[in-house]
Amino acid sequence: MWRAREKNNKIQLSFKYRIYPTREVEEKLLRVMQVEAKVYNALLDAVNNARKEGKKITPKDTQDMLKGLKTEGKELVYSKALQMVNNQLWYNINSLHELKKKGKKVGKLRYKKILKIVNYNQSGFKIDGDKLILSKIGEVKALFHRPLEGEVKGVIIKKSATGWYAIFQVDVEKEPLERTGKVVGIDLGVEKLVTTSDGVVIENPKVFDKVEKRIKILQKSLSRKKKGSRNYEKVRKKLAKIHEHVKNLMSDYIHKVTSWLVEQYDEIYVEDLDVKEMVEDSNSKTLRKHILHSDFSRFMSHLSYKASRAGRRVVKVDPRDTSKTCAWCGYVKKDLTLADRVFVCPRCGWTVDRDYNASLNIRRAGSGLPREPVDRKPLLYIPFSEGVYSEFPRRSRKSSPRGGDAPSARAG
Ligand SMILES: [Zn+2]
Repeated sequence: MWRAREKNNKIQLSFKYRIYPTREVEEKLLRVMQVEAKVYNALLDAVNNARKEGKKITPKDTQDMLKGLKTEGKELVYSKALQMVNNQLWYNINSLHELKKKGKKVGKLRYKKILKIVNYNQSGFKIDGDKLILSKIGEVKALFHRPLEGEVKGVIIKKSATGWYAIFQVDVEKEPLERTGKVVGIDLGVEKLVTTSDGVVIENPKVFDKVEKRIKILQKSLSRKKKGSRNYEKVRKKLAKIHEHVKNLMSDYIHKVTSWLVEQYDEIYVEDLDVKEMVEDSNSKTLRKHILHSDFSRFMSHLSYKASRAGRRVVKVDPRDTSKTCAWCGYVKKDLTLADRVFVCPRCGWTVDRDYNASLNIRRAGSGLPREPVDRKPLLYIPFSEGVYSEFPRRSRKSSPRGGDAPSARAG
């Protein structure tokens, strides 16, 4: 998970790593999370009661209550982490409030049995080699699969279905890149991960497809095992490992692609992901959909934080009709279907790869420039293979003949 927030010349990022607590440490963490939940519930009660009586209550009020709380096991929880429980509560209260304001139907905040995070903000933790030392908990081994950069401001310990994670909040210095004078529109897709208005196609490696069969076999085998049995756990772990492997491969790829884009362009225009249903194939399986969604959102968050760190701009544009509009003459072809991979304009006759056409429209929408004649050059095809990593296209390569089977953008 990466989140970016800007302040002055610094940018705040999150780095997520797997951690491996011993059984003893795990029990401590779980205990702390249960105590946190009790504290959370007590504060929630206080808020609810105050409101019932028509009294105003603020985050500061509930924070002041922390000291006097007689919650059992409170002494097991690091004091700052308790304060973060209060923050968490108010974050939830405010989110609910926001949803209500938007006219969404929302219920009340629920009481919790366990809070799945322990938040060490500013203090109470130390990194020592590959170990994370947590106040009141002890040592936990962490797997730093990518180097942790910047000034560490805090760490959140999180329990998920597949295991334990440490999410570090860090401040990194901005590193502005020299301007290149180039802007680009990009179309994100399932078939081709990225198609740029400069005619570059970056393949979607679809790592998931390559292991889908194995996943299906394992899932079937899992369904026949007794839940909780040793064999069940064995298969479940195997499955989780494959999923993680897929995620890591894709993550690495997304890092490389987004870094390349940020290096090349001063401004990057992209469709607003919140609006467009990115996974167009309605027949695709839920799991696949889920994975694609998370790939796209990871792509966007990496692109955004890298851009803001480098002093570049990412501009989201309205996705309406970006695929259906002829980038050459502006005609809107309403009956274009998802199966049409090639755009043929009924008015001017331009025949062009669907995604390339979309990227040109995205570029125009983002830059606000009038429609201009576009180069009818072929797309450059970048296959997914490790050998290509270091050779993402530079200017000089644009003229090289395309490889693979990417559709051509050339007219007729
Ligand atoms: Zn046209």
